[in-house]
Amino acid sequence: MSDLALDRDIDRSKMQVSDEVAIEITNMNKWYGTFHVLRDINLTVNRGERIVIAGPSGSGKSTLIRCINRLEEHQQGKIVVDGTELTSDLKNIDKIRSEVGMCFQHFNLFPHLTILENLTLAPIWVRKTPKKEAIETAMYFLEKVKIPEQADKYPGMLSGGQQQRVAIARSLCMKPRIMLFDEPTSALDPEMIKEVLDTMIELAEEGMTMLCVTHEMGFARQVANRVIFMDQGQIVEQNEPEEFFNNPKSERTKLFLSQIL
Ligand code: ADP
Ligand code: MG
Repeated sequence: MSDLALDRDIDRSKMQVSDEVAIEITNMNKWYGTFHVLRDINLTVNRGERIVIAGPSGSGKSTLIRCINRLEEHQQGKIVVDGTELTSDLKNIDKIRSEVGMCFQHFNLFPHLTILENLTLAPIWVRKTPKKEAIETAMYFLEKVKIPEQADKYPGMLSGGQQQRVAIARSLCMKPRIMLFDEPTSALDPEMIKEVLDTMIELAEEGMTMLCVTHEMGFARQVANRVIFMDQGQIVEQNEPEEFFNNPKSERTKLFLSQIL
């Protein structure tokens, strides 16, 4: 756990939340076999929101995030992403995957491909983007995450923080409208956490809709417009950061905060 002070000016004026709904989850339940992992989840995310999902280990944060791009299937209730309901229809799943980018704790870059090849693989082979255009887009996003000079290197030659920024750039190359982050900084050394958070802050400042599972409470305070607390498969409490941290309502939230802050 960490509460890194972010020493950079954060321009919240650019982080506008619109009235348009990006994700709508209604009465959603999920089981792993007989284990009821997500219970009656109701959540509406508007375009431009930056949501931090917090909660103890095993509370269902990853499962919730993974249901939103159908890496996991829910069994009850409804998930609608950008107007498309998540069903077993493969066409819908393709559409969702193209609109929702995901970034994990482990970067999952292909070790035998260069950074540039990692970034252009899906655009060329999945999206059928012409190679020249895919390379231009990849270089644009590598500039954005501030490591264009690493384009021809292999992942193993980069630091963890650089690899995670490559992973974010790789998602961005697919031009997602929503980004999901699952503990993107948890595997990183402290000095590298900040550079990844900086990249995430820049995305937020550009108006990206973001759901982030993270223990970085400094990020939650300064960047999130809403913090959601999960425990035992439920959304226990949600509020704007100031209220969430200074005036938690439930005993479970208070206990959690007392342990991490
Ligand atoms: P969190 O991300 O909050 O730590 P997870 O969503 O990973 O929580 O897991 C929630 C619960 O579901 C945990 O008890 C975990 O052991 C269980 N779980 C996660 N993935 C699976 C799976 N594929 N099969 C069975 N149980 C799982
Ligand atoms: Mg998790």
